[in-house]
Amino acid sequence: MKTSLRIAVLLCACLLATPSTHAAAMKALIVDGQNNHDWKGTTPHLKKYLEATGLFEVDVATTPDNKGDMSAFKPEFKKYKLVVSNYNGADWSKETQVAFEEFVRNGGAFVSVHAANNSFPNWPAYNQMIGLGGWGGRSEKSGPYVYWEEKAAKVIKDIAPGRGGSHGPQHEFFVETREPSHPIVAGLPVKWLHAKDELYDRLRGPAENLTVLATAFAPKEKSGTDRHEPMLMTTTFGKGRVFHTALGHAGGGKREAQQCVGFIVTFQRGAEWAVTGKVTQKVPTDFPGTDKVSLRE
Ligand code: ZN
Repeated sequence: MKTSLRIAVLLCACLLATPSTHAAAMKALIVDGQNNHDWKGTTPHLKKYLEATGLFEVDVATTPDNKGDMSAFKPEFKKYKLVVSNYNGADWSKETQVAFEEFVRNGGAFVSVHAANNSFPNWPAYNQMIGLGGWGGRSEKSGPYVYWEEKAAKVIKDIAPGRGGSHGPQHEFFVETREPSHPIVAGLPVKWLHAKDELYDRLRGPAENLTVLATAFAPKEKSGTDRHEPMLMTTTFGKGRVFHTALGHAGGGKREAQQCVGFIVTFQRGAEWAVTGKVTQKVPTDFPGTDKVSLRE
C-alpha cells in the first residue's frame, strides 16, 4: 500500500473509531502527586485514554509532596463531572475531604485506580466510596473480606480477622466477569488474559452498595488466597457512582498492567458509566481473549 493511501485508511479508521463528539466533552480531573507507584508516568497515560474516548476533557490536580503543605491542595471538584484518583499518600485537609465527599454525594463520578485503594485508611467516607481497600493498617475493623465463591456463584463477605491487602509476585492472570449484564463489562469477553500485574488480594472495607463486576483467581503458589478476588467493582455514595479498578500497577520503568487493553477499556468504560450510568463505547478489536495479552502504548 502506498504511504498516502495507508495514511488515508488509518485516518478513516481513526474517525470511525471515535465516538460522536457532538455533545460537549465532559470535564474530568485526575488527582495525583503522591503514590508508591509511578504516578508521573501513569497520569499522562490515564489522561490520554480518557480523552481518546472523545467523551472527556481532562485536567490534572497535583498535591504537594509528602513534606508539603497539604492545605494548599484545594481542587474545585464541583467544576467536574468525574474525578479519577491516581493518588496514594498523605491525608488531604479536612476542607478538601469535605468538598470531595459533597462532590460524590451530590452525584459526582469517581474512579479509583490500583493503589488509590491503599489511600486514606482512616477516612470513613472515602472507604465507603471505594468499598474495599488495602494496607495502611486495614484490618477486620475496616470491614469484611470480599470474594467470589465459585460453587455458590455469589459474593461472600467474610468478617474473619486479619490484615487488609496483600499481593504476591506480579504475573499475568485471567480476569473473569461476574455481572455480565452490567454496562461496564457487557459485550466484553467473559474471561480475558490480563498483562503482568499485581493481583491484589485480602482487600477489606465497608463493602456497602458494592457490586463485584469481575474477579481474578489468586493462587496459593503465588502467595494468594486461593480465592477469586475482586478486580473491577462499583459502589454508590449518595447520588454518586464509583468505579474501582484494583488493576494497574506501575513502577520501575514498567507500566504494562496499564498498557493492557483490558485495563484501558474497562477504565474508559468505567469512567463513562460513573458519569452517565451508561456505556456508549464499542468493544475494540484488540481486546484480549484467553490466549494472549494485548498491549497498547
Ligand atoms: Zn502496585
